[in-house]
Amino acid sequence: MTMHAPPLDRLVPEYIKRFEPYIPSKPDDELKKLYGCTRLSRLNNNENPLGPPPAARDVIDGFPPPAASVYPSGDAYYLRYKLAEKFGLHPDQFLVGNGANEVITFVIKAFCQEGDNIITADKTFAVYEWVAEFSGFEARLVPLKDFGYDDAGMLQAVDERTKIIFVCNPNNPTGTYWSRERLLRFLDAVDGRQIVVLDEAYFEFVEKEDFPNGMALIESYPNLVVFRTFSKMYALAGLRIGYLAGSKEVVDVIRRTCVVYSVNSLAQQAALAALEDGEHVNRTRQLVREGREYLERELRRMGLFFVSGEGNYMMLKLPMSDTLAYRKLMARGVMIRSMTGFRFPNWIRITISYMEAMNAFIEALEAILSEMKSRGA
Ligand SMILES: *Cc1c(COP(=O)(O)O)cnc(C)c1O
Repeated sequence: MTMHAPPLDRLVPEYIKRFEPYIPSKPDDELKKLYGCTRLSRLNNNENPLGPPPAARDVIDGFPPPAASVYPSGDAYYLRYKLAEKFGLHPDQFLVGNGANEVITFVIKAFCQEGDNIITADKTFAVYEWVAEFSGFEARLVPLKDFGYDDAGMLQAVDERTKIIFVCNPNNPTGTYWSRERLLRFLDAVDGRQIVVLDEAYFEFVEKEDFPNGMALIESYPNLVVFRTFSKMYALAGLRIGYLAGSKEVVDVIRRTCVVYSVNSLAQQAALAALEDGEHVNRTRQLVREGREYLERELRRMGLFFVSGEGNYMMLKLPMSDTLAYRKLMARGVMIRSMTGFRFPNWIRITISYMEAMNAFIEALEAILSEMKSRGA
């Protein structure tokens, strides 16, 4: 006997019916087959090409297989103590998640209910918007101004149902940032009425004097929640570990929405070791500095418009469709991020990596652009 199909029309909420799922890219080997390339430079996800710091590598190498059979610490105990020491806060002011992506869901679940909204920018890290929408909450997207978050526009969008304001600092993908002064002015204007999330996924890359450290502001602003991740600077993206910090009162609320054991043992131990390593951050910054200088020089020579700021990435505008450019660059072994999905049609974002990969990118880009010209397009 065959069962009837479930009555999805009745079972599925309207906001899920409306939501388009994100389609992740295929594994490298499948992509190579698909595009007919032998090598592939992954410049699409802002990964650190240096890999994890040596101390974290040792932990990964030495992980005893029997430890895989035991549940991890349910609240990342030792890691939270380490973070507390590093930032001068209490261990209970931290929540560790399966990547910063998971802590985004913790915060939205903790504060939003039917009819509420969150505010963020229209061209920024998309997960804030996605989690809000597939959870049935409105995401109010305030257009960027001069490629940066528009503080005045965001304040205007606030109403009595606004629960959370997400600010990505520096912004992925534009690399723009709010200075300390500008952030303080914004926090003062919000005046504690909403939760303000400061996503500092690229904090460790920034060397600017006037760049604010969210961790140092938590004491003065108990409505501030700061995100950090081990995926970018510390190159542990594959282990999935990130965290949030905030005032004890706010973190006590968010903790109720955490699913216990979502952060595995190896990730916790590797993250703990990664924090010990001082030279890794400097080496990575050096690599990004050199790669950025090279890319800026080459793109200027080619007459292409780009936006280059903080973080280990930059954006450039192409005289062609970004999705077409993606396919053409893939055929030449270079994977970039096409930005139609970020609402930047004809733009691409590229991760700053080893010089060899940067050369490969510039070469491939010149080839596809001259191919387009010779077609008389
Ligand atoms: C990569 C990224 C994250 C998520 O990082 P994970 O810890 O890997 O989930 C969050 N915010 C921004 C802005 C990012 O670029």
